Amino acid sequence: MHIHFLGTAAFEGIPSLFCECRTCAQARERGGRNIRSRTSVLIDGELKVDFPPDTFYHSLQYGITLNAIKDLLITHAHSDHLYAEDMVIRAAGYAQYGGQPIHVYAHDLPIRLSTHALIGEKHDYRFHRVLPFEPMQTQTATIVPLLAAHDPQETCLLYLIEKDGKTVLYGNDSGWFPEQTWRYLNDVKLDAAILECTVGRSSHRSSHMNIDAVLETKAWMTEHTVLKPNAPVIVTHFSHNAHLLHEELVEIFQPNGIQVAYDGLIVTI
Ligand SMILES: [Zn+2]
Ligand SMILES: [Zn+2]
Ligand SMILES: [Zn+2]
Repeated sequence: MHIHFLGTAAFEGIPSLFCECRTCAQARERGGRNIRSRTSVLIDGELKVDFPPDTFYHSLQYGITLNAIKDLLITHAHSDHLYAEDMVIRAAGYAQYGGQPIHVYAHDLPIRLSTHALIGEKHDYRFHRVLPFEPMQTQTATIVPLLAAHDPQETCLLYLIEKDGKTVLYGNDSGWFPEQTWRYLNDVKLDAAILECTVGRSSHRSSHMNIDAVLETKAWMTEHTVLKPNAPVIVTHFSHNAHLLHEELVEIFQPNGIQVAYDGLIVTI
């Protein structure tokens, strides 16, 4: 399984569009791994998680064939994870292609926003409503949505993705996991865990994970043998408001055996 990190930033991107903070200024100056677009991963070119506003940029940057995507999993409706207006660009009159339908898996609000944006359009998305802890077979994988603790306004989801004999936890935006999610994970064996570390050294962990929450999650997964031997733990979804450059994140996480994602990273498991 090839996990391609297309984007690794939270809502604002890094450098953030209008921001002149020290971190954004340094990111503009240094470039490279300090430039982060909004978060998404593409697995084996055919299963994508989330549809951020940087999807157009990702298609250019990595030469991605977006029509090769068979399954699109949406974690929640925040605009850095679902930019529904751009889904319309695949509708009749905006795109010519000979591909297959894209199957979209999400809870209520992302489906409502997407179908609202597509009202009156002729399109071939197929929407599937998923429920927490209920496995579903997609075109490319078996997925199990898990509950996140991110935004009380909607049911935000993490995904367990089992594909070609490998199981990955896609864990953002998660916050500190709800009890049911810990219980479910207790019986799972992971080949990789992708966690968010949006808020850095902040003490806040109720809707986003901070550094300590990531370290404790890895320790818990190790203690409960949830992680298979040598299974990578990868952090992503960083905010400029955490004021940590890529190099600083690596200094924090590398000694703890955690990989810091950057735009363009491909992890093979
Ligand atoms: Zn987000
Ligand atoms: Zn900034
Ligand atoms: Zn969010």
